[in-house]
Amino acid sequence: MRLWMLVRPAFRRSHAVTVSRGSRTTAEKLKLFRACFTGLRDVYGTYDPGTGRVRQVKQPITDRVILRHLQGHQPYGVYLLVGERTRAVAADFDEDNPEPPLEFIRQANHYGIRAYLERSKRKGWHVWAFTELPDVAAGKARSVVKLILEDIGAPMTEVFPKQDRLAGNGRYGNFINAPLYGSLVFRGRTVFVDPGNSLKPHPDQWAVLESVQRVTERELDEIIEINGLATPKACATASSPSPETAVSRGTFGLPPCAQRMLAEGVAENQRVACFRLAVHLKKAGIPQDLAIAGLTAWAAKNHPKGTRRIITEAEIIEQTGHAYTRPYRGCGCEEPAITPYCNLSCPLKSHPRLNSMPNEKDNPSPEPNHRYRSDE
Ligand code: SF4
Repeated sequence: MRLWMLVRPAFRRSHAVTVSRGSRTTAEKLKLFRACFTGLRDVYGTYDPGTGRVRQVKQPITDRVILRHLQGHQPYGVYLLVGERTRAVAADFDEDNPEPPLEFIRQANHYGIRAYLERSKRKGWHVWAFTELPDVAAGKARSVVKLILEDIGAPMTEVFPKQDRLAGNGRYGNFINAPLYGSLVFRGRTVFVDPGNSLKPHPDQWAVLESVQRVTERELDEIIEINGLATPKACATASSPSPETAVSRGTFGLPPCAQRMLAEGVAENQRVACFRLAVHLKKAGIPQDLAIAGLTAWAAKNHPKGTRRIITEAEIIEQTGHAYTRPYRGCGCEEPAITPYCNLSCPLKSHPRLNSMPNEKDNPSPEPNHRYRSDE
């Protein structure tokens, strides 16, 4: 007996979800599914829909295995990690509250990554991001997902794959249940939903898989580089420069705008510039007190015009406090205070999707322009 047959008819009517079967052939659907949810090919995870008991199946993942999943006979869970490569990464939000996963999607968008929201089988949400084919380094994908989770204040959220690489032969990592399991689809579970349409399931799930935007390894590298994810601690301690020296050298993988602002000082919008510089220094692993010391030295280089004054130490402490006490990471690429210092050589400049992003959300004041003052 199918699971949905056990559901009361009234429940079926009120919760039924319209999901088109589409016009694609079975072969086309299998191809789309495999392009997104393939990992290890000789082992998969499954569970008993009645008891929820989980087990591992050491058998090749044939078309029949996938079809039995899609038709609701036996769930298929994918071990995403193959060696140290993956073609998908997922954040597993346990709670039903949709705000954290939606925030994740918005923040992923900020970095130029499209993420897709799946209502999981019983409770919570999976947010998926797909990589260029055949795969990318899992460690890079995981680093960027963890960055996004830190940004949104949910660093403890589980990430699949759970490791950067498999430890050796006979190790499989952890599986995650694949979407589109049989009758659950028609109950609005294990389906991709539309954040722009009240979280309703997309009417054509196959169209979602067909049109996924995949993040490339190069794009992951750029995000990792610009956010100092690779070696933040090593940079911060390598040669133990004084904060003033470190800041004025423009080291620590700072983007060109930050390097130039630090080297030349700024003529206006010093508080905003100070805030952005503090965000960069935080990302580079510089302790807050050293950042304040460095930015105080930097302020002496500023050259405000006319009767305007140089930013005070109290203002530097305030802006640095904003940067260090909340999960800001954006570069402020579209802010009037920053754009004069932008450089075409910056990796973010050549990131087409990032450049089309709306202005970032992470201003410390509710109205971004409130940070711009006429006296400095
Ligand atoms: S794109 Fe321009 S403003 Fe943005 S981080 Fe790079 S140099 Fe700075």
